[in-house]
Order: sequence, then C-alpha cells, then structure tokens
Amino acid sequence: MSFKAAIVGRPNVGKSTLFNRLVGSKIALVDDTPGVTRDRRPGEARIGDLHFTIIDTAGLEEADAATLEGRMRAQTEAAIAEADVSLFMIDARAGVTPADEHFAELLRRTGKPVVLIANKAEGKAGEAGVLESYGLGLGEPVALSAEHGEGMADLFAALLPFE
Ligand code: GDP
Ligand code: MG
Repeated sequence: MSFKAAIVGRPNVGKSTLFNRLVGSKIALVDDTPGVTRDRRPGEARIGDLHFTIIDTAGLEEADAATLEGRMRAQTEAAIAEADVSLFMIDARAGVTPADEHFAELLRRTGKPVVLIANKAEGKAGEAGVLESYGLGLGEPVALSAEHGEGMADLFAALLPFE
C-alpha cells in the first residue's frame, strides 16, 4: 500500500525544490479549469525503492499579507487532512521564524504524523537552524538539502514506516 505525503511550510523554504527532486518529470497533469485551485499539486515520488504520492503546497507566494495567514491555514489544513504524513519544512539558514512556529502549532493540533525537515542544511550555514528546530517539539529534524540532494537517505528512513 502506497501512502500520501504533503509538503507544508511557509513560502521560500524549498518545498517545490524537494517536490521536483522527488517527482522528476512524472508531474501529475494540472487541471486547467478556471476556478480549480492550484494550491495543491500531486506527483508520484520515489526515493530509492520507496514510492509514494507527494503533494506540493503552493500559491501563497503571491498572496498579500492581509490574506496570507488565512490562505496558509486553509491550504495547509486541506493538505494535512488529505495526507497520511506531513513533511513540515523550515529553512535551516533562516532558523525558526514566527511563521514556522505558527505552522508547528497548527500541525500539533491535528494530531497527525509529522516529519520535520530542516532544508538548506548544506554546509555550515544551516547548523544552528537544524539545532534550533528541535525546539518546535515535532521530534528529530531531517537535515536536508533539497537543492543539492543531501540527506535523502535520512528522509527515506523517516518515511519508511509509512509504507
Ligand atoms: P517554496 O516556496 O517553499 O516552494 O520554495 P522553492 O522550492 O521555490 O525554493 C525557494 C528558494 O530556495 C529557491 O531559490 C531555491 O533554489 C532555494 N532552495 C531550495 N532548496 C534549497 C537548498 O537545499 N539549499 C539552498 N541553499 N537553497 C535552496
Ligand atoms: Mg513552491
């Protein structure tokens, strides 16, 4: 049985970079019908011999501050509800931000499984952020570089229980 994972987190942490790395060219067809939400994008992901459905959450980048929080919450809640596990991503170079804390609280309240990902962890610049992310209370972070493909074995190990 395959499982479904949703990548959630504030804009610019690297969600789509991870999505593209895991999905490659096998991106699901996008529904072009006007009014159909583009906020959630599914694809068939593969890490080694682990196959699963991954949902990228997007469309927040253009939102203005007044609508961002509400849209973020609605989109994230829908993705979490749909998924077996949430991949909650933070930017290890930026460290934990108030928006990250907000997401973490929302995720904790759902009571559903979360894998914490500290992305942009290549090199020394991400080290402090990785350590700081333990404080979110969502367990041990997977230190990742979605852009450079580092930490994929740890992500594999973290997702194996959901297969
Ligand atoms: P999203 O808004 O969360 O989907 O973020 P994107 O995937 O669009 O990435 C935002 C920016 O972060 C882009 O400029 C990426 O190239 C960059 N980025 C993504 N992953 C990494 C990473 O592992 N390391 C670094 N240094 N930059 C990254
Ligand atoms: Mg994106």
